[in-house]
Amino acid sequence: MDMVTRRGMLSGSAAMVAAGGILSHQSTARAAAPIVGKQAPGFYRYKVGAFEVTVVADGALAFPVENFVLNATAEQVKAALAAAFRGTDALSVPFSPVVVNTGSKLILIDTGLGDAAFERSKGMIGQFATNLKAAGLERSAIDAVVISHFHIDHVDGLLTADGKPAFPNAQIFVPAAEWKYWMDDGEMSRAPKGRIEGLFRNTRRIFGALGGNVMPYDAGKEVVPGLTAVATPGHSVGHASFVLSSGASSVFIQGDVAHIPVLFVANPGWHAAIDQDPAMAEATRRKVYDMLVAEKMLVQGFHYPFPALAHVERTASGYREVLVPWNANI
Ligand SMILES: [Zn+2]
Repeated sequence: MDMVTRRGMLSGSAAMVAAGGILSHQSTARAAAPIVGKQAPGFYRYKVGAFEVTVVADGALAFPVENFVLNATAEQVKAALAAAFRGTDALSVPFSPVVVNTGSKLILIDTGLGDAAFERSKGMIGQFATNLKAAGLERSAIDAVVISHFHIDHVDGLLTADGKPAFPNAQIFVPAAEWKYWMDDGEMSRAPKGRIEGLFRNTRRIFGALGGNVMPYDAGKEVVPGLTAVATPGHSVGHASFVLSSGASSVFIQGDVAHIPVLFVANPGWHAAIDQDPAMAEATRRKVYDMLVAEKMLVQGFHYPFPALAHVERTASGYREVLVPWNANI
């Protein structure tokens, strides 16, 4: 067999171009297919024991690289992105809520940014509802929505664009510690101006519109059968993660324990500007990732690259996520 050489490949492709020229000359009646300019609907399915999980893409937003990490320079952050073959002009942050079908119930974990954001961004974010539909599911079929924490990318999808409940038949579950903090008027009065103050206002807007349909849950207990809450504070005061288990299988649904993995899984000591208590977030991150490595447990990461499911291994300076390959058959 001939060795494949770069020169051979190039002359081969030149031959193909020539053949293409003849082909296009002969088939002038057929128009080229139009450029679509749009990604395929983002959903991905896998099994956890008897449960079927559907990861549903909500889109992605570009953030400035500068000041995203408190204790690393923009140059260090750009070097980490370049080392992972990512663009360095901006930080692309994807959002991936998860739907679990237990066989008797449909459970959604976190909501994405919602319909209003979809309209404002012309479809760049807030894609959850469209992609859920493409996956053959309706919001009205969701029985329970379980929230990890009260940042906008995790709760704003609870409402439609006109401020109505987006999941009319679902019970809404929230972390008790998160509820206690963000609904406390004293905490709100002491909140730093800017982002945190805005989050207090947003939390009250969202849950005010849901009326009494909110059930706080405690960490360490099952929120719904098969889904156990784990206290993972730091990114937000009452941040929670989940272990989803069926039979001998389980997956750790981490929320934002580690944000963008090529930054914060690779460098667990880096502090995200959006971590409310950065030192506590780091302690939680190291504890969780040590557990994931020791247990060889899959992690579902809200801001991981789609479909946001990975194994984790230890490296000299931190950890590395190994994303699961596409499964053509479930
Ligand atoms: Zn988030």
